[in-house]
This record gives sequence, structure tokens and C-alpha cells, in this order.
Amino acid sequence: MNKITNHLPTAELQAIDAAHHMHPFTNDGELGQKGARVITSAKGVFLKDSEGEEILDGMAGLWCVNIGYGNDSIAEVAARQMRELPYYNTFFQTTHVPAIALAQKLAQLAPGDLNHVFYANGGSDANDTNIRMVRTYWAEKGQPERDVIISRWNAYHGSTIGGTSLGGMKGMHGQGSLPIPGIEFIEQPNWYAEGGDMTPEEFGLARAQELEAKINEVGADKVAAFIGEPIQGAGGVIVAPDGYWAEIQRICQKYDILLIVDEVITGFGRTGNWFGSQTLDLKPDIMTVAKGLSSGYVPIGASLVSDKVAEVLAGTEFNHGYTYSGHPVACAVALENLRIMEEEGIIEHVRDVAAPYLAEKWHELADHPMVGETKIVGLMASLALTPDKDARAPFASDAGTVGLIVRERSFANNLIMRHVGDRMVISPPLVITKDEIDLLIARARKALDEGYEIVKEKGLMVAG
Ligand SMILES: *Cc1c(COP(=O)(O)O)cnc(C)c1O
Repeated sequence: MNKITNHLPTAELQAIDAAHHMHPFTNDGELGQKGARVITSAKGVFLKDSEGEEILDGMAGLWCVNIGYGNDSIAEVAARQMRELPYYNTFFQTTHVPAIALAQKLAQLAPGDLNHVFYANGGSDANDTNIRMVRTYWAEKGQPERDVIISRWNAYHGSTIGGTSLGGMKGMHGQGSLPIPGIEFIEQPNWYAEGGDMTPEEFGLARAQELEAKINEVGADKVAAFIGEPIQGAGGVIVAPDGYWAEIQRICQKYDILLIVDEVITGFGRTGNWFGSQTLDLKPDIMTVAKGLSSGYVPIGASLVSDKVAEVLAGTEFNHGYTYSGHPVACAVALENLRIMEEEGIIEHVRDVAAPYLAEKWHELADHPMVGETKIVGLMASLALTPDKDARAPFASDAGTVGLIVRERSFANNLIMRHVGDRMVISPPLVITKDEIDLLIARARKALDEGYEIVKEKGLMVAG
């Protein structure tokens, strides 16, 4: 058997990594200089690295390991499925039991009439599916000119050509001549950074009404869909003010615009319900899911599609699909993951135990001299770093300078906490216990304290 070994010396692994492995979203030159941290195993909420250090994973990998690491029954289901049917496709009038059973389960769990599943390998390519699906929907209804999709600046919808185009990350658009044609953007509902003197509610309403203005600018007869994350994840865990989503929903209905809700992070318990759409009372026509669907154990994503859209699509051949759409091992693992979430009451644990406790502790960090606001919904949380709390001021330094300092102190203290610009974000495994939350908060505070000292020393505690 080919044995991939963790037992080479760390420096040797790092050198091979630097020589041959191109990392996503990374400056490989810089990383090669210092060496990547080599993760060797994981259990529950803890990672272990090649030096034997135990790291609390405050991000659940990339927002995905909802049931925690090291679950044996998932490993067994995967092995069994690999022996029975490791692969077959669903393109040419064939199907298989894992794809059938998972589609049925997702239809049962999903809100409203999202009764149909189109499989993908992750969130990005599911969103690529969505672009083609909503445009095909309108073409089939005799309105092919309705092809514009409206999204938001600072949204994240993945890293494929389609996903990057739908996303509102300017740095990503800059690489590869994106977005593709037919994508329009409105501003995000980030009150803390952009709300000025308005109340959060006034600001949220104004930002939602930008959708109506954009529809009128483009022409309602040209707009196919609006896409949004219930809570922006990679954009910095931005929680829209109350009233924002109700207004977005109203506008979509008024102009008969399809609503695509990207639940790649908010799905499968993250917000304390099965879906963020339930937490925020949204009625999507299409929902994007991935990440927590398999708790990250294997790659899988999907578009959950309403009766309304599926009925129209059923009238044509949708020339679209991936070799691994509905991969049997991925479907079997996702089903087992959902069984565990249901039978072990993981959603209830988030809603009744972990989220309220984390919220209490997270908000206490607001007393830190460098913390301007703390936000949390379920088990996704953020805090804004600031040199001037009263003014909600940004730092004079380039966005992310201070955030990176705090992130590095967090990493050094064995907590994975991410920075998005000068916001710090966490999204721990949903199975996190109260004791583990105490440890997370203690390490986060230590990172903030140590980061604050460095920021002061470097003369960065200055408003911009
Ligand atoms: C991560 C993410 C994606 C992309 O998913 P991949 O599996 O990385 O392709 C899309 N949308 C949102 C909201 C995400 O957080």
C-alpha cells in the first residue's frame, strides 16, 4: 500500500511543499520562506501539527467541519460505499442509491418547495450551475434577454470563473479579466464600516433598496436573479441589519426576480437552524449548499431547486453536469453526516447550548481597547478591530495590516482565527463544548492583547 507519511521531519515536508505545492489564496514566495504549518491529524475541534502542537480550530477548517474531526462512522460508510460502488455517473439515464437517498433527504430538510437537487463538487461549481440554470429558466419561459444576475460587493460565491464573477471581491476580479458579462453589483449591508450616521435599520433599508434602483437601471425585463449569502462569510461575517432581508425579498417578488440564497456556510446548522434561510425567513428559488453538507469529509455541493424552477427546466435538456455530480461516495458520506447531525441533536446543541454561550463570551471581548463591534449569529462570529471605538474608525494602515498581526498571534497561541481585512472571524465546529469555548475565548483574548502591544509598538494605533 502507498503510505503517505507524516513522519518526515517538519523542515523536510515544508521544503517539499514549497518546491511543488501551489497553495490557494497564498503568496507562495512568502510562505516558502517561513514554511507552512503541517497538519497531521485531528479529533473533535482540535488539530495536531507535525511538531505535536494541539491547535483549536476556530474555523472548522474552511467553515465546513460541522460535526468535528475524526468521526469513525463516516469513515466506515465511505469505505463500504467504495467497495460496493465507488463510482458511477448519473448523466445518461442512470442513477444510484446514494444520489437518490441524499436528494430525498435534502428535499425533506430544505425549507419551502426546494424539492429538487442538482449535484456539484463544491460551492463554486454549484454557483456556476446556478448561473446557467437561471438563464436557462428565463430562456425557456421565452425571455432569453433576462440574463443579468445582481450580486453584492464583498460577497463570496466561490473561485471558479462563475463563482468569482458572482462574488464581489475586487482583488479576485482583477486576476483573470472578470466578472463575466451580465453580472451587476450593489453595495453590501455592512453598517459598522459604511453606515455613517444612519441607524443600522435605516442603513439596512437603504442598502436593500439599492436592489430596486439597480433593477430599474438595468431594466426589470433584463434581470434574471439576485444572489446573496444570508450572512456574508468570507467577506468578514457581515450580519445585515434587521429589515434588510425582508426588503430584498419584497423587491425580488415585486419584479419576479429569482432569489438565489448561497448557504454554503450558513447551511447545515451554522446559524442554529438547518438553514440560514430559516433563521432569516428567506424564501429562495434556488439554494447553494456545500461545505457542511459533508462536514468537509469529502467534496460535495449542490443546488437545491424549487418546484417552480425545476418544472420549467424539466421541459428542456439542461446541457450541464460534472463527471462527479452525485458521486456515490460523497453522497453516502453526506447522508451519514446528516444522520449524525439529526440523531445527535447537533442543531439543538448549537441553538440551545453552544451559540448562546459563545455569544455571551464573544460579546465580552467588546471591552478590549482595540475591538469596535462584536457580531455573532449561531456559531459564526466576527469582531471589528479599530484604533478609535467611538468613531468606528478604520486604521490608517492598509486594510488587513492589523488583522494579520492579530491572526498571527492567534496562530502562535494555537487558535485558528481568521482575519478579513481588520475584522477577526471564527466559525468553530458545531460540536464545540462550553469548555472548548472557554479555551477559544481565552486564546482569542491573548491574541488580541499580544496583537495590541505590537500594534502600539509599531505606531499603528492610528485612525485613517
Ligand atoms: C466557500 C464558499 C463558496 C465556494 O465553495 P467551494 O466549495 O470552495 O467551491 C461559495 N459560496 C460561499 C458562500 C462560500 O462560503
